[in-house]
Amino acid sequence: MEQSSDHIFPVENALEMIIMFNRAGEISYANAAALQKLEYDNDLCGRTIGDVFPGAFGAGNEGFEQRASDSQELKNLVAYRKNMTCFPVEARIIYTPSSGMYICMANDILQKEFLSREVERVREEAQQALKVKSEFVANITHELRTPVNGILGNVREMLTEKADERTEKSLRLIERCCDDMNKIINNILDFSKLEAGKFVLEPRRFHFRNMLDYVKGHHINKITEKGLGFFMTVSPQIPEYVIGDELRIVQVLNNLLSNALKFTSLGKISVEIVKTAQVNDKIELFFIVSDTGIGIDKADRDKLFQSFSQVDASISRKYGGTGLGLNICKQLVELMGGSIEVESEKDRGSNFSFSIWVGACESEEGVLTQETFQKPAFTASFAADREQEDVLNIKRFGTPENLDNLNRNLSKLILCVEMENWEKAEMFMETVRQLTEEAPQEVKRRVLKLKMAIQKENYEKVTAGYEELKNCL
Ligand code: ADP
Repeated sequence: MEQSSDHIFPVENALEMIIMFNRAGEISYANAAALQKLEYDNDLCGRTIGDVFPGAFGAGNEGFEQRASDSQELKNLVAYRKNMTCFPVEARIIYTPSSGMYICMANDILQKEFLSREVERVREEAQQALKVKSEFVANITHELRTPVNGILGNVREMLTEKADERTEKSLRLIERCCDDMNKIINNILDFSKLEAGKFVLEPRRFHFRNMLDYVKGHHINKITEKGLGFFMTVSPQIPEYVIGDELRIVQVLNNLLSNALKFTSLGKISVEIVKTAQVNDKIELFFIVSDTGIGIDKADRDKLFQSFSQVDASISRKYGGTGLGLNICKQLVELMGGSIEVESEKDRGSNFSFSIWVGACESEEGVLTQETFQKPAFTASFAADREQEDVLNIKRFGTPENLDNLNRNLSKLILCVEMENWEKAEMFMETVRQLTEEAPQEVKRRVLKLKMAIQKENYEKVTAGYEELKNCL
């Protein structure tokens, strides 16, 4: 029998063998994969399913309908080619009552196993290549760093001696080039380690404000040389000492501040840090680095955190850079249990904000663990079975969780207002509104007042409304 032209299936080119047959077992359709694997030229139609699977449906096997309709689950069968050689398959047979037909879908197990072995082999090869690449990068960056540091050491030595103005200017320039080169080398090394999953954070106890002073000291000269203002605000709720990877927090801040400085020629740069949550001895810190620089187009914002991404070629020509910094920041912040975001508008400055989790310790005493960076279960998207209960507690006005969440959202809200990011402030306002749905009337009234002030973008009214609401919580 000729293959029926009525059956125009989208399954014709499927990799799976698909065979259609009736109650008597007579085959009326077989797709290209079935014909090819069973080695028939269009002459499979007209044969019976027992010719293909004699073990399961062959002559002498009684109760065909019963066996076919029992076969809905995946079964291991032996399929026979036209020349009576055979191969194992995994098959599923479905009965379609509307047409009274059976559809058999079968996969060649040997081929499937071969393919999964191939996938595994390719994966191992890729991992090996990544390992070789990261070892190569580690070696090459080491080889590059040695001469750069040699030059830098000598230049610094020469700078301590008396030199004429021209020589000193040249030496300062060489010193700056060496610093830039070192930054690029470090970025390449970090990127490669992060990519290979070999990056390990090193938590230790450190003085939080001293760390910030160090970061500020690193940039302040260049900022004032450019005639820009600089403001840093740290919430008093942040303890004196915290446990975290100080070096990496400094790295993220340095990168964001260097970018702010690089892309701002007029106005100010500011840094704000608040504590946004606490769960037992872990606290969430929220940082905002904002500038009044060239800003970033909406279309370009999404690709900012991808590796090697710069907004356009003219930017890299004018300002330099490798486009690795923000990608490294993103990966580091995520390793510290947080996330990073950008809000910006072309020619209207940028706000880069990120959150991280650190261990809290009030004194120099404190317990160091690698778990410091793991988001506590409370915020880790309210894991599975506790999800319902936690969400209820957060919504239930007056519970510690609810108040904690409310305060957290209010802090973020007021920060956004300070930054004049009204859109985001409205977003936090909506969360505050939802969290106070069951609150007493007086709280709700104040929430409404604050909401209206935010909608009107009235700074004075918002700050007054914010204070009022905080006082009655
Ligand atoms: P690079 O090392 O090249 O600066 P980054 O990943 O740090 O790489 O930044 C990538 C790109 O993001 C920059 O080239 C720039 O186009 C844009 N960018 C980053 N920060 C700012 C900012 N504060 N203002 C404007 N554009 C920025």
